[in-house]
Amino acid sequence: MLKIGLTGGIGSGKSTVASYFEDLGIQIIDSDVIARNLTNIAEPAHTAIVQKYGNKILTQEGEINRRELRAIIFSDTNEKRWLEDLIHPLIKQKILEGIAASTSPYCIVVIPLLVETGVYDLTDRILVVDSPIEKQISRTTKRDKTSEHFVIDIIKNQATREERMAVATDVIYNNGDFDQLKQGVYQQHLIYLQMLKS
Ligand code: ADP
Repeated sequence: MLKIGLTGGIGSGKSTVASYFEDLGIQIIDSDVIARNLTNIAEPAHTAIVQKYGNKILTQEGEINRRELRAIIFSDTNEKRWLEDLIHPLIKQKILEGIAASTSPYCIVVIPLLVETGVYDLTDRILVVDSPIEKQISRTTKRDKTSEHFVIDIIKNQATREERMAVATDVIYNNGDFDQLKQGVYQQHLIYLQMLKS
């Protein structure tokens, strides 16, 4: 099974690219979705977080209060490390399960922070969606109805375009319209199918 890690900065177009690959019948394993579901009630990470922080970390419905948790790890690197050490192996495990269950010719693992976290051992290739920063900003502010300031701050805390390019084996440029992006995905799809043949 050929495994492609899909990454890119905020608003670069990762989710859109992933949905186009999905339209072509390619299995998508999304690490963000996995991470979100990991803290669902009755999941091991939910239990561990409540054991550490007590019931005050829960909403009235018994779910992890994500805003509260983000605030804790934002202000304390030890807490951040503790949470990452808890979550990251569990995410990896679920990704491996997703890959093992995949039935398409190849599969795509969406890992937004692939370069930042350095998880290069899960996939065979790294596909970067690259976009000019101005477009990342305009698309994200529109999508999330948020300020430019906020998006620029996130971009500053992510890997740079150059850092991503340095590890990319494949690149899809997203500086045109949706049709051009779809075309770029199709071309890349053909390249992957060709790789599988040879
Ligand atoms: P990411 O997953 O990398 O954060 P998204 O795929 O969600 O990025 O794209 C960010 C926003 O920009 C979305 O609202 C998406 O519909 C829009 N978008 C992505 N690519 C294009 C494009 N080529 N033209 C116009 N809008 C786009």
